[in-house]
Amino acid sequence: MIPSDTAPHSADPDIAANLAEVQAKVAEAARAAGRDPAAVTLVAVGKTFPADHMLPALNAGQRAFGENRVQEAEEKWPGLRTRFPDLRLHLIGPLQSNKVRKAVDVFDVIETVDRPKLARALANVMAETGRRPDCFIQVNTGAEDQKAGVLPQHADAFIAQCRDDFALPVTGLMCIPPVDEEPSLHFQLLAEIAKRNGLAQLSMGMSADYEIAVAFGATHVRVGSAIFGTRPKPA
Ligand SMILES: *Cc1c(COP(=O)(O)O)cnc(C)c1O
Repeated sequence: MIPSDTAPHSADPDIAANLAEVQAKVAEAARAAGRDPAAVTLVAVGKTFPADHMLPALNAGQRAFGENRVQEAEEKWPGLRTRFPDLRLHLIGPLQSNKVRKAVDVFDVIETVDRPKLARALANVMAETGRRPDCFIQVNTGAEDQKAGVLPQHADAFIAQCRDDFALPVTGLMCIPPVDEEPSLHFQLLAEIAKRNGLAQLSMGMSADYEIAVAFGATHVRVGSAIFGTRPKPA
């Protein structure tokens, strides 16, 4: 094997095994919570890893993937989609208004709708292209300054605006809890906001806490490093 310091992206032979383990834990967490394991979609987060690292997961039947950057997704996924046309690509990172056109083209689900300007831009591009990716509203449950997402106290009004004014196909909510807080409080808050707004889908839980998220009703867990390995540190 090539030493990892010279080839930080060399294919991890364990991707398929890691994936199977995460799938099993998701299913177990669902059963423990009295939920149907089929009600939870594992979104495999491939960011920073090249296309060939997606193949072991695709070959094992994994079809939902997450990326946090539009440009990276544009480079990585069209080729894979030709071979696996039924895959579903989720945007889980911040979306700038000037990248909306590309995002609508590349993604099947946009999980990070969080402000009126973006909602309006999405509505315009959807009307123009006829492509309508599912939209999740990102909620900044920890009210962190540096984090994207609508504040919890503004969530109901923003959800209504997205549906009524912009006619976006809003199907769920997404959150990223603060790193140093008990995630379950945030998962519970997100679930409450979804329930009172009649939204069925909840994207919450990452490698460190996806089992907890499933216990609190996650329909989508976004798991990266537990499947693909540790990402190189950002420069
Ligand atoms: C990177 C990322 C994940 C996956 O994180 P892991 O801890 O590697 O599982 C999930 N959600 C978002 C929004 C991310 O940016």
